Amino acid sequence: MMIPIRCFSCGKPVGHLWKDFQELVKAGTPKKEALDKLGLERYCCRALFLGHIELIDTVARYKKA
Ligand SMILES: [Zn+2]
Repeated sequence: MMIPIRCFSCGKPVGHLWKDFQELVKAGTPKKEALDKLGLERYCCRALFLGHIELIDTVARYKKA
């Protein structure tokens, strides 16, 4: 859905890094390097980014009027 503001496991604030991560990946940076560049060192935060699928724009179309 939306990237969580904080990592579920360790509590590190990560929400603000999502856009930068997407831009780096779109520019062709390997995901590993993008995560390293953003300072996401723990595997809980890294898994959050690697497993995330952005669905908010799809779901928002079906909101109750
Ligand atoms: Zn974490």
